[in-house]
Amino acid sequence: MTEVLVLVDHVDGAVRKTTTELLTIAATIGEPSAVFVGGGFDAARDTLARYGAAKVYRVETPDVTDYLVAPVAEALAQLVERTSPAAVLLPSNAETKEVAARLAIKTGSGLITDAVAVDPDLTTTQSVFAGSYAVRSKVTTGTPVITVKPNSATPQEAPGAAADEVFEPVISDAAKTARVTERTPRASTGRPDLTEAAIVVSGGRGTNGDFAAVEAFADALGAAVGASRAAVDAGWYPHANQVGQTGKTVSPQLYVANGISGAIQHRAGMQTSKTIVAVNKDEEAPIFELVDFGVVGDLFSVLPKATEGIQQAKG
Ligand code: FAD
Repeated sequence: MTEVLVLVDHVDGAVRKTTTELLTIAATIGEPSAVFVGGGFDAARDTLARYGAAKVYRVETPDVTDYLVAPVAEALAQLVERTSPAAVLLPSNAETKEVAARLAIKTGSGLITDAVAVDPDLTTTQSVFAGSYAVRSKVTTGTPVITVKPNSATPQEAPGAAADEVFEPVISDAAKTARVTERTPRASTGRPDLTEAAIVVSGGRGTNGDFAAVEAFADALGAAVGASRAAVDAGWYPHANQVGQTGKTVSPQLYVANGISGAIQHRAGMQTSKTIVAVNKDEEAPIFELVDFGVVGDLFSVLPKATEGIQQAKG
């Protein structure tokens, strides 16, 4: 069966959900082969095997891991040359989209970014103009290089051998012009990752910069904290937590929007959530067109009561 290369998204071997989604999609196209760049493979092996990776190419040379994205693209290009895969799938983030673009140029291939679905025949769907149009497209030249947005597939367990092999690419000097000088892990908030969380509690301009009630409610539910762009642009919450068209796409079981009006660009990042709840003091706020449950009220009085109710229910 033809291989489908999947670039693994991981932090020191902790495999992110985006990768298990990509392996699930890859299995509908051909035989999933994971490409693991960096250290920590032993921690990743079980997850990769559990989600169907037949092979794993381990790229561990400092010629790749000590530099920014260019060597990763060269390593992938050499794997494409060697394995003639049906496609290369990568997660959609700023870094991997740059890798994908460089890879497509090196291999003379077509590139599709931000797919939200990939069919077994490699026709993809992209959601554009803040989700108001779906575009279907297919690569016509070379090896399809496709980046896929988080939450585009439900990861399905399917045992794979995860037979690993250390792959030693030859990296050109031209690819080694930007070296990583230091890596500092971001201080953990103890909360789940935004794109992987089952529950996301977000705050907007209505918080007026005070996220304490939003965070307390999130912690009572074991949720991740998101923010609207207005809140992020005001410097009230980190950019990494922005939900929306120019932020992260989330699709949790429960999304709670607090003091967020529901602009189309915000909706683009959360409208596929299974259950949507909003707290807003303006009953005319557009977010109420979208919700399953709405609370018209001041978040500073609603959220503390809700937090208390949850804590009491948990005993
Ligand atoms: P507002 O629209 O100001 O809404 C605040 C809401 O809080 C109001 O509905 C108000 O009634 C309510 N409120 C006020 N006080 C309280 C209170 N005490 N209790 C309860 N409710 C209260 N936005 C994103 O979020 N994500 C994106 O990725 C994004 N990308 C964009 C890309 C482009 C190209 C553009 C042009 C815009 C983008 N935006 C994005 C911005 C978007 O258009 C909106 O401006 C933004 O989402 C508004 O944020 P907000 O809902 O927090 O603020």
